[in-house]
Amino acid sequence: MEKKEDTIEEKVNVDALFLGPKSENHKYFKETLNFLMDEHIHWRRDFHPDDKPVISVWEQHETNFEATLERTTNALLELSSKLKTSSMPWFSARYLGHMNSDTLMAANLAYMATILYNPNNCAYEGAPATTALEIEVGKQFAKMLGYDPEKAWGHITTDGTIANYEGLWVARNLKSIPLAIKAVKPELVEGLDDWQLLNMSTEKILDLVSQVKAAGALEAVREHSVRGTGMQSGKLGRLLVPQSKHYSWTKAVDVLGIGQENMVYIQVKDNYRMDIDVLKATIDKFVSEKTPILGVVAVTGTTEEGAIDEVHEIVKLREEYEKEGVSFYIHVDAAYGGYTRSVFLDNKNQFMDFDNLKQKLHDQGVLHKEINWPSRDVYDAYKAMANVDSITLDPHKMGYVPYAAGGVVLKDKRALDLISYFAAYVFEKTEDNPMLLGSYIMEGSKAGAAAAAVWTAHRVIPLNISGYGRIIGRSVEGAVRFYNSLLSAKVIEAAGKKFVVAPLTNPDFNIVDFAFNEVGNTSLKAMDELNQKVYEQCSYNSGPVFYDDWITSKTDLSYDDYGDAPKTFVAEMGIPAEEWDSVRSVYVLRSCVLTPFLTHNTTYDEYWGNFMKTMQKLLGVIVKAR
Ligand SMILES: *Cc1c(COP(=O)(O)O)cnc(C)c1O
Repeated sequence: MEKKEDTIEEKVNVDALFLGPKSENHKYFKETLNFLMDEHIHWRRDFHPDDKPVISVWEQHETNFEATLERTTNALLELSSKLKTSSMPWFSARYLGHMNSDTLMAANLAYMATILYNPNNCAYEGAPATTALEIEVGKQFAKMLGYDPEKAWGHITTDGTIANYEGLWVARNLKSIPLAIKAVKPELVEGLDDWQLLNMSTEKILDLVSQVKAAGALEAVREHSVRGTGMQSGKLGRLLVPQSKHYSWTKAVDVLGIGQENMVYIQVKDNYRMDIDVLKATIDKFVSEKTPILGVVAVTGTTEEGAIDEVHEIVKLREEYEKEGVSFYIHVDAAYGGYTRSVFLDNKNQFMDFDNLKQKLHDQGVLHKEINWPSRDVYDAYKAMANVDSITLDPHKMGYVPYAAGGVVLKDKRALDLISYFAAYVFEKTEDNPMLLGSYIMEGSKAGAAAAAVWTAHRVIPLNISGYGRIIGRSVEGAVRFYNSLLSAKVIEAAGKKFVVAPLTNPDFNIVDFAFNEVGNTSLKAMDELNQKVYEQCSYNSGPVFYDDWITSKTDLSYDDYGDAPKTFVAEMGIPAEEWDSVRSVYVLRSCVLTPFLTHNTTYDEYWGNFMKTMQKLLGVIVKAR
C-alpha cells in the first residue's frame, strides 16, 4: 500500500478536488455520498443477516413514530436555515479572511462516511480501522517534513493548539530527565555537573533513556523527572518564542506549569521574522547567568503575517552553541505552513535543490511563470525543518481538510517514553496499530473520522509537488497577485475624497496584510479608524453574509506584541514617526489567501476589479457617514 503512493506520477487536477465555488462538482459529490451511505446501510444488514429486524414496519406507521421523525426533520431544517444564513462562504474567492477555504471533497466524503461508524481513536477496541490510519498518516507527516518515518512518531491531534502542547510537553519532560537520571542512576552521568545535565542534546538524552530502559530503571527515572516531581519555576530554564507566536503558546506555558515569567519573546524584524541576532544575544545573556534554555520555538507561517522564521539559522545557532556545551530543544510551529513543505518535494518525495525547484514550479505549472516564489530564505527554512526536534502542522489549515485535524511529529519516537503512561512504548496489537493510543498522547477520546478524512486526502493527493504542491502553488499565486495589485493600486476616489491602499510587507507565504489611508492624513488614529470601518463593512458582524461583497479579517499590530516592527509600514503610509511613538499600534486588514481559485488571469483580474469597486463603494459610504 505504502509503495503505490510513491509511484503516482499523475499530477492532480486541482479543480477536480473541491465541490467548487458554484458547486460545479455536485453530481460527483452527491452520487458518491449516496453510494457511501448505501455501503453503510448494507453493512448493518450484513451483520448477522439472520437477526430479525427490531423496528417493525407496523411500528413505523404509528402516529407518534411519524411525529418523532417529523420533529427530526424540523430540527434539521432549522439547523440548515441557521447554517445557510450565518455561515462563512469559505468556498468563494470573495472570502479572504482567516485560514479557511473550500475543503477537499475526498476529505469531506471520508468524514461523512466514517462518522456513521463512529470510531474512537483513543483505543484499538473502539477503532480497529481508523487508529491504523492515524499511525499511517503520522508516517506520511514525518516523510513530508524530512524525518525518517521509521524513527519518527507523528499523529493527528484535535488542532494545532494541542499539537503545540504536546511538543512542549515532550521538551519539558526531556529537559528534566538528565537530573532525574543523576538521582536514580548516577553512574550513567558520572562527572557531569548540573549545568552540563541541563544542556544535553536531545539525542544524548534519548540515548540515556534507552540505557535507563535497558537497565529497568525507566519508571524510577520518570518518577524523578518533572512529571513525578512537578515544576519548580525557572529550574528548567527559559522558553524562547518569537513575538509573532500564536497565543496557544501563552496557554501552553500555563497548562504545563512553565509559567509566563519563563517565556521570553524575541523581537521580530520588519519582515515579521524572528530576529536571529536578538535570539543569539538573548541566549548569550541567559548562558552568562547560568540560566538554561528550555527550548526555542520557530514559526513557519505566522498566524498574522504568514512570515517564515529562519529555521536554518536557528539550527545553525544550536550547532554552534553545542560546541560550547549549550543545547536546547527546537520546536517548529508549522500549524499554518507545515503542508507547504510538499511544494519542495519532487514526485519521488526528495527535497529539490533550489534551482531545480524554481524551474519545476514553472515547468509543471505549479506556479504561473510571472510568480517568483519562494525566496532563498523560505526555501532554506523549509529544508532545515528536517533538523528540529518536533513540528506542529494542521491538516485543517493548508491540508484543506475539515475540522478538527491538527498534527504533531517528533523526530525521534523514543521521546514517547517521556510522556507515555505505559511502562514502555508498546504496540501490543501490531507495530502499526496501537492498543491504547490514548496512553501516549495528550487527548483521550477522539474522532476517528478526522483521521479517515486526512488519510483519504493523502491517498488522493500526494504530499509533494504533484499533489498538495499544486493546490498550495495556486494559493501562493493568488496571494502574490493580490500583493502585487495592492502595491501598484491607483488612488481611489470616493465621495470627493482620495484614498491610498498598501500592503504591510512582502509576504513569505500566502497572507497579505494591508491598510487604507486618506491622502494627506497624518494621524495614525484616523487611519486606524478608517480601516476599522472598512473591516466592519467586510465581515459577518455587519449583517447577513449574503450582503457582503467581500470578506476579510483584521489584526492590531501593537508595540506590546511586535515592538517597533510596524514602524516602517506606518511611515510608508505617510504617517510621521512621532505618531507611531505615541499611538504604538496599527490596525491592518488581513487576508489569508487559501483559495485555489484566484490564479488564472481572467478570474484574478475580475476579482481584483470587484475588490476595487467594492472598496470605492464602502469608502464612499464611510465618508458620507462622517
Ligand atoms: C492556527 C495556529 C495555531 C493553532 O492551531 P489551531 O488548530 O487553531 O489550534 C498555532 N500556531 C500557529 C502558527 C497557527 O497559525
